[in-house]
Amino acid sequence: MECEMCGHRCSIQEGGYGRCRMYTCKNGEISERFPDLYLALWPGAIETIPFLHYTPGGRYLLLSTIGCNLSCEGCVSYVLAKNQDLLTDALIHAEPTDVLRMARDNACIGAVFCLNEPTVSLETVARVARELHAAGLSMGCASNGCMSEKALDVLLDHMDFITIGLKGLSDQAYQINGAPCNAEQVFQTLKTIHSRNIHLEVAAVCKTSDMEEIVTIAQRILEISADIPLLVMRFIPFHGADTALEPSAIAAEDLISACRKYLPFVYLFNTPSTRYLNTYCPNCNELLVERSFNGPMGARFSGRYAQVCPSCTSSIPIRGEWFSQFYQEPRFRGGYRTPVALDMVYSILKAVSISDEATMGMVLTKLLSNDYLEQLQTRLQTPKGYIEFLQVLQQWSGSLSFEPVIRFLSGRVQIIERYSNVPNKPRVLSVLSHPLLPSYPDKMENTLIALAGGDVLNYDLGYDEKSSERFTWDAFQKLKPDILVVSGPGHLTHQDFVDLCMREDLTAPAIEENNIFMVPGTHLSAGPSWILTLESIANYLHPDIFDFNLEYEKAVLLKTLPGLE
Ligand code: SF4
Repeated sequence: MECEMCGHRCSIQEGGYGRCRMYTCKNGEISERFPDLYLALWPGAIETIPFLHYTPGGRYLLLSTIGCNLSCEGCVSYVLAKNQDLLTDALIHAEPTDVLRMARDNACIGAVFCLNEPTVSLETVARVARELHAAGLSMGCASNGCMSEKALDVLLDHMDFITIGLKGLSDQAYQINGAPCNAEQVFQTLKTIHSRNIHLEVAAVCKTSDMEEIVTIAQRILEISADIPLLVMRFIPFHGADTALEPSAIAAEDLISACRKYLPFVYLFNTPSTRYLNTYCPNCNELLVERSFNGPMGARFSGRYAQVCPSCTSSIPIRGEWFSQFYQEPRFRGGYRTPVALDMVYSILKAVSISDEATMGMVLTKLLSNDYLEQLQTRLQTPKGYIEFLQVLQQWSGSLSFEPVIRFLSGRVQIIERYSNVPNKPRVLSVLSHPLLPSYPDKMENTLIALAGGDVLNYDLGYDEKSSERFTWDAFQKLKPDILVVSGPGHLTHQDFVDLCMREDLTAPAIEENNIFMVPGTHLSAGPSWILTLESIANYLHPDIFDFNLEYEKAVLLKTLPGLE
């Protein structure tokens, strides 16, 4: 039998399955392999999916199944989209009535199918939408737009709001990602969605290889409607993708400026310091809606907004009710944080050479159960917690492969810990890609600075993820840090950061004496390479005590991770 859900048109034998592994042939008919089975079933703010022009601040039940009909490079949902058979034991059965009950129990105003492609679970999605609509709740989804006309009809009959993620403008961009469609077909889908008065937002990834294409995408969206927001995702090389494809934050912001000359509502994601998540009046440039960075592909609505410009009385095309109380999900919940956590654990297992599917599936299933995921982010913010996490993975997997890396990390931490209480600690402020964006106090970088003998100013700022105010120029000026430690995504160079300090007119001993330490991009706190960050910070803060040979240390670390690609 042929599956008609997307252009792959898989021919499926009785009991077999198609390319996405989500449809089978049963009694001569194509049917879902995992009907009413979900991986994600938890509440989240709509900006974390993300949607920026629909019910701002609204809380929705986030739904996902597993699987996808595409194979995109650097996919943020790689494990749940392309290694879905590892996760089948973690799926939760929920009838549409159960989903409705969960939405109500969590004070949600609707549900959104996200994280993976709705086309691969279309009947499940449609059944839930019917149940929610009958109860007066709304339903939306995020999709790649690569589906058959028949599947699109079913989807549009059930959706109130949709984000379509574009893969590019060329047919080649779609071919590379294994798509069963081309760019023109997806643009036709955008027109169809808009013509049916369903709320539409469009997302596109910007890579260094095709920055200009984003401007053309903005122009083409303008041909459909100037009211459609374009959400530009600055490429982050998830899952071992080429790091050279990641544009700098500054280049990405320049790109958004160029796009806004054509299309008024273009936004930049994956860029902590950016103001390009805000909505400005297209007529007089007054700030109307304030938002900030909130994890991969996510934004955070500050609750401050004006739907009608106070200066020129223009209104902005944002649909639905506004919610000023922002919902903050537990860490590693909401938006794409869970797929990122799955990807991280999958990568660690592979790095220590655990690759048999049964063990991997068992570990990932345990990770998703017992609320472990909600504690994980906290654990990962200290070396001790990280090492304990590896010990938990070792226990779950029943493998001793973690021993060498655990021994290496523990030994190096012990060496540095001996000097944590040195006198004359320098006053250190750690920031995320921008001088006015301090790291939250509970972040790994602050723990590492304290361990390496720094006086961490971030601990006393009273500035964390619940803070609704921006960190200000005045607050920075009062701190007078001796040293600035700069981490975070964005390929920021030392000179870029100095330029940012100049642009903001900031002064501090750290800036005047050029005591600015840029954490190398490869030392990411989510992987075991945080140990190299710790050693490099120790070298920088106390060169009289520490002299780690970082090349040698990296080689030793890599030896403990023989499966690292
Ligand atoms: S949805 Fe597409 S990829 Fe999946 S089985 Fe059907 S035709 Fe194949």
